[in-house]
Amino acid sequence: MKVLIVGGGGREHALAWKCAQSPRVSQVLVAPGNAGTDGEPRVRNVDIAATEIARLLEFARSEAVALTIVGPEAPLVAGIVDAFQGAGLRCFGPGRLAAQLEGSKAFSKHFLQRHGIATAAYRVFTRDNYDAAWLRAQRAPIVVKASGLASGKGVFIAHTVDEAEAAASDMFGGRFGDAGAEIVIEQFLQGEEASFTVMADGKHVLPLATSQDHKRLHDGDAGPNTGGMGAYSPAPVVTDAIHARVMREIIGPTIRGLERDGMPYTGFLYAGLMIGPDGAPTVLEFNCRLGDPETQPILARLDSDLTTLCEAALDGRLDRVESRWDQRAALGVVLAAAGYPDAVRSGDRIDGLDSAARLAGKVFHAGTQRLSGRVVTSGGRVLCAVGLGDRVSDAQRAAYALAQCIHYPGMQYRRDIGYQAIARERAGDGSRGQDATDPGGRG
Ligand code: AMP
Repeated sequence: MKVLIVGGGGREHALAWKCAQSPRVSQVLVAPGNAGTDGEPRVRNVDIAATEIARLLEFARSEAVALTIVGPEAPLVAGIVDAFQGAGLRCFGPGRLAAQLEGSKAFSKHFLQRHGIATAAYRVFTRDNYDAAWLRAQRAPIVVKASGLASGKGVFIAHTVDEAEAAASDMFGGRFGDAGAEIVIEQFLQGEEASFTVMADGKHVLPLATSQDHKRLHDGDAGPNTGGMGAYSPAPVVTDAIHARVMREIIGPTIRGLERDGMPYTGFLYAGLMIGPDGAPTVLEFNCRLGDPETQPILARLDSDLTTLCEAALDGRLDRVESRWDQRAALGVVLAAAGYPDAVRSGDRIDGLDSAARLAGKVFHAGTQRLSGRVVTSGGRVLCAVGLGDRVSDAQRAAYALAQCIHYPGMQYRRDIGYQAIARERAGDGSRGQDATDPGGRG
């Protein structure tokens, strides 16, 4: 069968690489892909942007694509799954209504509140009902979020109420375009973050391995927020007990709530969680797709055939399949371009990919392009070097060995990806996180 992957980042390279390993798959098509997907056996790039839904549909039909997997949020929020389904094509992801969980933070907060699922206390404002007096009466830190899609940049953690007011007026002033016409202001939560991703078929869920990412640009979680500078799996912060609690208190009620609200959820569902000091999980956000860079280490550990799992979900049979995982840890280090996350420079020549390919692990491409036979940078996050190892510290060593092979002008990367898990390993904490292999933990 032919599989189409929609998107062109690191997540999509990992999806294409994984699907191409399936003995059921004759070819993987990636729209638009990058220099990494271009170089994979049995994978072909197609020059169609991820948001050109009509062209993607026409292409999928003409190539008799049996399964489409959508990477990024924009086409999901725009209704790509509804369009494909309407044409009788199998496309894995939530429909437009359910994708609002990510497309509108206001929608998602109201949904959580209505269904009694733990999330930070909040209020939603537009310019018309904005209540500056209420905001001035709040305690800092406080979090100001653009409600719409803002490529992960629409969240501002204000350390004073003055900063919060400035952020709110910035958003109303058009800093994030339409995404900031409505804003969410919410309580600041303490704890450790973890990503919890499941596959859902409308009724049943299959949890994927847990992971943790690193959002800040610099070591020690300093510097500006980014799309993610690295991630590892499993996340030891998600112990067996917390895993069971997240399934029971968050994932189960979310899937049932969406079904009850008339928008059953099929697709990958990513919950960004804050695990409080008492182990209580709270939802920071939902994404209606896989995380990037979390996907790269997660799929590096997935032993099952991803296409079989997606098809089981499309058939409403997720309760009858299991996922198998490599018991080793995986850790991915993002190599970013000069200037990231602000003014990104493109066109820098990347050297060392061949030497990295001779080592264990895998270098996934994100913002790369092939120009006159050479691979050059073409985006903020350029590559993600993924290593595997028995412990997170071993996976970290393998990932940095890959990263050190690679050179381009202005390359930036963090040196401490996985530090929280490694600190736990050093402290002799035996827990290595839940692996989602226990069917008893299913919702
Ligand atoms: P979001 O896109 O809503 O997940 O926000 C991006 C990042 O901002 C999260 O990964 C957290 O690091 C941080 N963040 C968001 N909301 C809160 C909150 N209520 N309390 C503390 N940190 C937050």
